[in-house]
Amino acid sequence: MSGAIAVEGQVDVAPTGPVVAKVGRVFNLRLPSSPGLLLVVSCGDVLISCSVPGRRRPGIDYPAPTRPADVASAMNDDRYDVAIVGAGPAGATAGMLLAQRGHRVALVDRSALPREAVSAGWLNSAAVGLLEALHVPAGDVLAHALGAVTFHNADFSKSATPRFRNPPGYLIERRTFDDALVNNAVRSGAKWIVGEAVDVRLKEASVRLELGGERAVESRLLLLATGRESTLPARIGLVRDSGRLGMWSAQVDARPPNGACTGESRLSVILGMERGGFGLCCAWGRGLSVGVHLRGQQDQVIPALVELCRLAYRHEVVPIDLSGRAASATVLSSPAAAALDMETHVGKHTLLIGDAGGFVSAAANEGLYPGMWSGRIAAEVLDRALGGVYSQDELMTFDSQWRVEMADYLRPPHTDIHFLLPLVFSKQPMADRMAGAFFSGENI
Ligand SMILES: Cc1cc2nc3c(=O)[nH]c(=O)nc-3n(C[C@H](O)[C@H](O)[C@H](O)COP(=O)(O)OP(=O)(O)OC[C@H]3O[C@@H](n4cnc5c(N)ncnc54)[C@H](O)[C@@H]3O)c2cc1C
Repeated sequence: MSGAIAVEGQVDVAPTGPVVAKVGRVFNLRLPSSPGLLLVVSCGDVLISCSVPGRRRPGIDYPAPTRPADVASAMNDDRYDVAIVGAGPAGATAGMLLAQRGHRVALVDRSALPREAVSAGWLNSAAVGLLEALHVPAGDVLAHALGAVTFHNADFSKSATPRFRNPPGYLIERRTFDDALVNNAVRSGAKWIVGEAVDVRLKEASVRLELGGERAVESRLLLLATGRESTLPARIGLVRDSGRLGMWSAQVDARPPNGACTGESRLSVILGMERGGFGLCCAWGRGLSVGVHLRGQQDQVIPALVELCRLAYRHEVVPIDLSGRAASATVLSSPAAAALDMETHVGKHTLLIGDAGGFVSAAANEGLYPGMWSGRIAAEVLDRALGGVYSQDELMTFDSQWRVEMADYLRPPHTDIHFLLPLVFSKQPMADRMAGAFFSGENI
């Protein structure tokens, strides 16, 4: 039988002399069928336990803070309501929202700001509403609205220009974008900590995050947003495989000399590449990039990227031949749609979001907006968990909430795109529907 009690007020205990301690935690514990329950009292860093009679609540096996305000005041200053590991778009979004709601947030990342990587990315226009809600200054990150989008086939012999019901989005510089999100989270009150999380210890009522250099962060709840290749989630039993599509990606970026990239921001999508893959060429005010996203074998990615760079230059889709640089690009795994195959994104005191949880769309290998979206949902769930009595029960709602909101967006199109390609390049409505699938997660 299991049980829990709700206790308010103060308790007198005397470990070495008379002390008045506030009730810090009440645990739900498996108990023999006796009338007493175990009450754990926090007195500074000392934990004292005693048996008291109480009211049972069956079926719950997790610790339940009774009054968040009291719990917070019983903690030391270096303890947080939520520790977030990973300050990419997913973690920073959640950090911002939780800090804006008054929670004490530690945002931990092994990379200091500003980040070194300079790469371009496509940001879905659906993210704009989220950025506004987060009070991120749009001018910082949304300077390059997409002016033109073109579909090409793999050898560039055919092309189509889709029409959009909604604007397709923006080209962004990842360093500027990611740093703006983190800076806004910090302005909202999150504590920014540079350090590598090397281990996690899930205690009964809190989480201890071990950072390199013998540092640690203590929090009530944990959010893992550690990106595509982290092993940290597996350490607490949250295992994600590479996703049903097994995508591999590589991209090459350049800042060409003045004048080479002028005019409107353009995105070219190359459909029908080998192995169900596609390519993206971006040309914008400040630079250009060429990337490939392929299913299947990792070793096919660089040859495909080199070839795409050559063809894109030959067909004047990009103003510079980047094939030389492409040969030494880094190949990365992409967890496209992997969230759909995970049994759960909830561990003890913990949620998993962003690439770490496989929140990447299958059709476009798009992870920025889905990562932020999963961060927004996680922030709502964590907010409820921090304010409620049975925090683990609240955390469990994350699994159903993200599936209701996001599953259709992440899912691969129901139709094999390969067979539709001739129609995309010959019928305008099919080009428009392909754009809906690629840029808005719609089914074809
Ligand atoms: C080549 C390529 C091109 C892409 N292009 C696009 C695009 O144009 N548009 C788009 O929407 N998506 C794109 N994506 C996908 C997108 O980049 C990711 O989905 C997105 O970055 C995921 O965000 P995230 O916050 O989950 O993780 P990340 O951005 O990967 O951030 C994870 C963070 O966690 C930190 N971290 C990891 N482990 C630890 C640890 N143990 N301790 C401390 N910190 C840690 C890392 O330093 C990092 O800052 C692309 C992906 C690839 C590979």
